[in-house]
Amino acid sequence: MLDHADLTRRLADLVVEYGANVQPGQVLAVTTYVGKEALTREVARAAYERGARWVDVFTFDPRVKRERLVHADESTLDFVPQWMIDRLEWLSDEHGARISLNGPADPEALAGVDPARAGRDLLPYLPNTSDVINRGTTNWCVAPAPTLGWARLVYPDADPAEAYDRLWEEIAHVCRLDEPDPADAWQARAQQLEKTADRLTERRFDAIRLRGPGTDLTVGLLPSSNWHAGNSTTVDGLRYFPNVPSEELFTAPDPTRADGYVTATRPLEVYGAMIDGIRVEFEGGRAVEVDAERGAATLRSIAAKDDGAARLGELALVDGEGRIGALGTTFFETLIDENAASHIALGSAYEHCVDTEADRARVNRSRVHVDFMIGSPELEVDGLGADGTAVPILRAGTWQI
Ligand code: ZN
Ligand code: ZN
Repeated sequence: MLDHADLTRRLADLVVEYGANVQPGQVLAVTTYVGKEALTREVARAAYERGARWVDVFTFDPRVKRERLVHADESTLDFVPQWMIDRLEWLSDEHGARISLNGPADPEALAGVDPARAGRDLLPYLPNTSDVINRGTTNWCVAPAPTLGWARLVYPDADPAEAYDRLWEEIAHVCRLDEPDPADAWQARAQQLEKTADRLTERRFDAIRLRGPGTDLTVGLLPSSNWHAGNSTTVDGLRYFPNVPSEELFTAPDPTRADGYVTATRPLEVYGAMIDGIRVEFEGGRAVEVDAERGAATLRSIAAKDDGAARLGELALVDGEGRIGALGTTFFETLIDENAASHIALGSAYEHCVDTEADRARVNRSRVHVDFMIGSPELEVDGLGADGTAVPILRAGTWQI
């Protein structure tokens, strides 16, 4: 029997201290879900111990979302209460900290709901989220919070209590809670990844080509596209780690140059809906054909949200040294699964991934950001020069540069 209370405490400490790096006197906003109360309370404890001025908890109930998706008038499904948008603006004005406790809290909540309707209600994700992120005013962290429902989804054949134990065990492992000092272990991994990111940036590739089973995609980069590991700095110079766990190197591509096709190597859960067997074709940067074995309508409705939703905002590479890919588990949670494999994202880009004003004006903009995983050990990644010469970057999960 695992000591869930102890793991919950350790995870909360890691997220508050290392992840969001909550400062004395700061307001901390927590977005959480019904079923995640234990971790939410430990996060509040850790934040107040660090001297937080106020911990502002917003608890979302997927079963209430279900009632809306089933019964509300279709024309109202895009409605977002103004106060939710204002709360995020307030946090930005306050230079507050933000923590989101992710992981499908209650995956059965949206079972049987019309996927096209589900794609119209993105709450609790807010339309001004990427705006606030790009302002760099808040130090934030997204971290996983295990629930019984999530455990049943990941290990459908195990007895529920055993499934819950296994989920905790694997989450503890991928979050490095089994290290004597998890924050130290993450600092060391981040340093190693940052060095590789710097080497990639120095090469100034014109494009990146990804080839693997069902995938052959060339993604153009902008002249000042730079590669980042999972750390960030606020406008106030505060260093934080937006994702726990994080094993990826990512950049902002040229939204007008993506050509070829990709096949997702893992299923994903987007805004409460399941999408599996994704195949997308790109032409001139645009997703011109979006298919999926399951949830295709949801994905198409997301890709039609606005012009940028059908273009790429992120290209991320993941090596074979991370702890997530090695497990072979699909968590149905992008935060974790995206770190198992190289991925691309439709929608908004991270502006700090380019250096010049001219490129900042060119990066992709959208109200959505949806990552899907196209990486596998078979994925071959090459950097292309402007003259088309190819330099190997990743082979069998190992860096070649
Ligand atoms: Zn990513
Ligand atoms: Zn992403």
